[in-house]
Amino acid sequence: MRTFKEPKGLQRWCRARKLAGAKIALVPTMGALHDGHLSLIAAAKRRGADEIVVSVFVNPVQFGPNEDYSAYPRDEKADLAKCRAAGATAVFFPTPANMYLPRHSVYVNEEDLSKGLCGARRPGHFRGVCTVVAKLFNLAHPDFAVFGQKDYQQAQVIRRMVRDLNFDLDVVVAPIVREPSGLARSSRNAYLSDAEREKAVAISRTLAAVKAGAVKTVAAAAKAIERAGLKVDYVECVDAETLEPRRRISKGCCVLAAAYCGRTRLIDNVLI
Ligand code: AMP
Repeated sequence: MRTFKEPKGLQRWCRARKLAGAKIALVPTMGALHDGHLSLIAAAKRRGADEIVVSVFVNPVQFGPNEDYSAYPRDEKADLAKCRAAGATAVFFPTPANMYLPRHSVYVNEEDLSKGLCGARRPGHFRGVCTVVAKLFNLAHPDFAVFGQKDYQQAQVIRRMVRDLNFDLDVVVAPIVREPSGLARSSRNAYLSDAEREKAVAISRTLAAVKAGAVKTVAAAAKAIERAGLKVDYVECVDAETLEPRRRISKGCCVLAAAYCGRTRLIDNVLI
């Protein structure tokens, strides 16, 4: 498994591999890898990638000023070992300084799907995500890139960016990997105390009840999550493609939730 710190080094290697006929998969991550991330590497393997490039980069541009950029868990050594074991063939772990040169001044803005949900609560977040992912696409020349349904809005925004900017690659979205309790796996779960972890299960439990039809409105879902002791940021029902609000929870919708468990912001969603 190769490792790259310099964008140019990754770009040169990927270009050479591509010219040699290799099918390249890109798996963008912020590290602190867990089974959710590893499932994306497995998906890349299943789709026949010859080279699986995992990027590990806590992207400062997608964090708001009062968010957890500094506290975000980082463990380069463990991440490398996990990538190797999962079958990645290259890992890219750049520094902010070599991803964003002095006077960096070009950003990618998606202006439709980014408006609501997390985009409304985290101004500038998707601008940061789109910018870094566009850079990674230009560095890795992937035939396809794998994202998780866990970040549903993000996956839709990236799909739109790929369509609208004519990136020559496929976007693959892999299902949400959960802990045995149902809690969606997340690097941020590392912030949770044992007691918080128990409370946090209310999010996935409630969304499962929504999908099963036992909880019929987003207001009822929000109440159930609050009752467990979380602070709801939003629970919304949207069209799964356009992300436009839908009044009734019905087929073709996605119900998404974001809630604070203590100081930790968690997200989850279900497709109806
Ligand atoms: P992150 O490191 O949190 O930025 O996530 C990197 C990629 O892994 C994104 O495409 C996420 O959607 C995906 N991902 C994170 N958690 C999970 C999960 N529990 N199941 C599936 N994919 C995930």
